[in-house]
Order: sequence, then C-alpha cells, then structure tokens
Amino acid sequence: MKVLVPVKRVVDYNVKVRVKSDNTGVDIANVKMSMNPFDEIAVEEAVRLKEKGVVTEVIAVSCGVQQCQETLRTAMAIGADRAILVQTDEELQPLAVAKLLKALFDKEQPGLVILGKQAIDDDCNQTGQMLAALLDLPQATFASKVEVADGKAKVTREVDGGLETISISLPAVITTDLRLNEPRYVTLPNIMKAKKKQLDTVKPEDLGVDVKPRLKTLKVTEPAKRGAGVKVPDVATLVAKLKNEAKVI
Ligand code: AMP
Repeated sequence: MKVLVPVKRVVDYNVKVRVKSDNTGVDIANVKMSMNPFDEIAVEEAVRLKEKGVVTEVIAVSCGVQQCQETLRTAMAIGADRAILVQTDEELQPLAVAKLLKALFDKEQPGLVILGKQAIDDDCNQTGQMLAALLDLPQATFASKVEVADGKAKVTREVDGGLETISISLPAVITTDLRLNEPRYVTLPNIMKAKKKQLDTVKPEDLGVDVKPRLKTLKVTEPAKRGAGVKVPDVATLVAKLKNEAKVI
C-alpha cells in the first residue's frame, strides 16, 4: 500500500512574523522557512507504518514554489521514498491544494493520505477535509493514534473534552494532531541519502487543475498590543481587582 503525505513549506514556527506595512499579508522575505510541523508528524507516521511493514511506499508531495524541493528533501531524509513537487508561483488556497492532491491520488492510487491537521501559516484546517470530500472517502481528522490492519484504520481522534476512536475503511484521509508521534531527528547520512531519491516536478496544468485563488484577502492586521501589567502588594488586593476592575470573579 502506498501512502501520500502532503507537506507544506511554511514560515518556521520559531520566527516572529511581521505584518506588511500595507496590511496585504505577512512579510516572508528573508525569513526562515521549514516544513509545517504537523506535516513532519504525518511523514513520521507514514514512515513508521512502512517500518511496521503495513506500507510499501511513502510519497511526499508539496505544492508551491521551486524552493518546496527543500521541504521534500527533508521529508525524504525522514524516510519518504520519493517526492512530487507541484510547482507554481500562484498563491495556493486549500481548495486548489485539495484538487491537486486529488489528481495525484487518482494517479498514484494510495491506500492512505496523511496530512497535517493545519498549516501554521494560514491556519486554515481545511485541506484534508476538502480532499476527503472531493475523493468521497472516509476521513479521520486530528489523529493522536493510528493503527492500520485488514483494510481498515483505527484512529483515535482528539476531540473537545476527550478522545474518540473510530474505524474507517481504506482508502482514507487522515490528518495528524500534535500528540500522534514525535518526529525523529534527521541525520546527516539520511540527508545525504535523500539527495539521491527521486523528485518529480509537475505543473498544475499537467494535472488539469485550475489553481486560481477563490478567496480574496481584504486585510491582515497585527493582534492588539497587550497593555502593561501591574504589581499588586498582596492577594487581597489581587482578588479585589479581579472582582471590581476586571470583573472576572
Ligand atoms: P490547511 O488546510 O492549509 O491548514 O493545511 C492542512 C494540511 O494540508 C497541511 O498540514 C498539509 O499537510 C496540507 N497542505 C496544505 N497546503 C499544502 C501545500 N501547498 N502543499 C502540500 N500540502 C499542503
């Protein structure tokens, strides 16, 4: 069984992003870019399934600019077998990515697609769900445990107030939550090995997908600045302030 793992190149989670002065978006010029953390978890999970003998091939896919190749090389250093770059300079929104992934799914016929639950740049949390809908396949989102056997996946999902365990038949779409696993460190020998692995490049037109944005960003603004804190002399004053000024107790 093949597994398709979409990986997005995003601003590194350690970078404090700055909104552009014209409020059209976030400034990503000269900023460190990395693989979306939830996608690292997805690659790790797919590689672990391969190590368990459940999966035969892990294919990483990234949609975006030429530099997404670096993200794909990282996925292959973690253990993905090969990679596909869907190259475009267009701004890609979740529906466009889901359509591109559907086209690749139709071509590769994987038993599973494991995506991140959300990309930490746009925080959309939509692509996996849209892909499942376009493919008319079962989906298990926010996975914290995945077991694959007998043509089914038993997935524990992180839901409000607890965990839900569901069984879905394959092929299916799974999205990862933070507690699913801890991705391994990428070692230098594996980085070197990854350089030799197969990386194919296609264009959205080759897949017959129109990726034009459907949503228009009106403006992006910084969160409101937090006011300075005050020191209180004792607990009684704190309680009084919480009661009378903040009115939270
Ligand atoms: P989102 O719906 O944008 O929050 O993204 C959810 C997941 O979809 C990500 O964690 C990735 O696994 C996948 N994804 C989104 N955009 C891309 C992209 N441009 N290339 C590859 N995978 C993507």
